[in-house]
Amino acid sequence: MTASTHTDIIVVGGGPAGSLTAYLLHQAGFSVRLFEANPTVKRKICGEFLCFEGVNILSQAGLSALLEGDGALPGNGVKIVSNTHGVIKSDFPQVKRDEPGGYCLNRQVFDEALLNVTEGAGVMLHRGSPITHLQHQLPGWQVTTQLGATYTCDLLVGADGFRSIVARQLGLTIPAPKKRYALRCFLPTRRKNERVIEMHLLDEGNYIGIDVVEDYCVNFSIVANGDTLKQHGGAEGVIRHYYQTHPVLQENIMLPDPMPPIEAMSPVSHRVKDCIAPDAVLVGDAGGFIEPLTGEGMTIALWTATTLAKQLARCRENRAWHQRNRYLRAYKRQKQWHYFQKSTLAQFLYWFIKQEQAVDQAYRFLSQRPQCQEAFTGVINNTYTPLRGFCALALAALIG
Ligand SMILES: Cc1cc2nc3c(=O)[nH]c(=O)nc-3n(C[C@H](O)[C@H](O)[C@H](O)COP(=O)(O)OP(=O)(O)OC[C@H]3O[C@@H](n4cnc5c(N)ncnc54)[C@H](O)[C@@H]3O)c2cc1C
Repeated sequence: MTASTHTDIIVVGGGPAGSLTAYLLHQAGFSVRLFEANPTVKRKICGEFLCFEGVNILSQAGLSALLEGDGALPGNGVKIVSNTHGVIKSDFPQVKRDEPGGYCLNRQVFDEALLNVTEGAGVMLHRGSPITHLQHQLPGWQVTTQLGATYTCDLLVGADGFRSIVARQLGLTIPAPKKRYALRCFLPTRRKNERVIEMHLLDEGNYIGIDVVEDYCVNFSIVANGDTLKQHGGAEGVIRHYYQTHPVLQENIMLPDPMPPIEAMSPVSHRVKDCIAPDAVLVGDAGGFIEPLTGEGMTIALWTATTLAKQLARCRENRAWHQRNRYLRAYKRQKQWHYFQKSTLAQFLYWFIKQEQAVDQAYRFLSQRPQCQEAFTGVINNTYTPLRGFCALALAALIG
């Protein structure tokens, strides 16, 4: 081991979770190395909507400027289309106060900008350097890149997304069955897009998320189960089927022939037994991926980064680096509670959208009560915690 290849912390993965973790830990005074597998940032399969809570996290980290560039359009509200084609459209609660309720991002631009800010702040960034091997040393870790270079650290942070090599090599991954697929393509629109995200509920618990990318283009993501894909002869068949059977989609979106490239991924899940191991910790999707129906994966990734960074900054202030695993356990407790709330809401909503009659009744209920619609969109974009949101919804229903 040479001094130059050792840092306090190594972060694996330069997505939102890894970049923000590295940035904040460097600011807290740690020496940090960040490894990103790709030489240039790829545009991931993602609905690309950063909800209100995520906007707040970036602002608290002093990084609001990231949302001022070309790759970020303010999102003002949401349009939800029920399985019976009923439409509910409501502004986010912030819009009344003239604030954006969230942002429609171009993930390639956003992830790249966050990575650049991190490097600019002084983090040692290794692009195009996938980590392939981890070895526990007492204390700390040695990581090996694909080209065979080795680096050591006291603490390893796995931020390498939901195919996390770090989680797998730590023995923390729970294998997920390939039941569902996420498909994504970019589609042209007939009219200039409103700054509104869309959620279309389909049959069998399948759904489409639509995010505004540009004035005349949308990010069209669909989550569908494997049986639906088989039934319609693959990704293009599924998209064509739902487009033809859902008239609301045809109002603004165009389906060109030939279809633009469709990207697919499966499984749409990543579960772990634990998010910590001795001298190692997982953030973002690497530490557990939550059903994308609520569209808050990036926000949760940013939340895990700030929560971990706060714990480790305290550890440093208390001159207790030798006791860092105690601070990792405190992070784990906070994360468990946060994930419990988020995943319970996401699982409930996912279960709910499969109850087609109940969805239709919920649509009828909400369509007659505008106050409830606003409370509901407040839950969707994380203005309210699930508990507060449902209290607001119940109150709005009583008043209404
Ligand atoms: C269909 C769908 C729709 C979604 N819609 C939304 C939405 O609207 N809003 C939202 O907030 N979230 C959404 N998400 C979730 C969101 O995309 C993720 O939660 C978010 O990207 C997590 O960030 P991350 O930093 O943890 O992981 P990632 O963004 O996946 O970053 C991980 C990084 O690690 C790198 N890496 C991987 N392996 C290695 C290695 N061995 N060595 C070095 N680097 C490595 C990768 O190249 C990557 O850059 C959606 C997800 C899906 C599937």
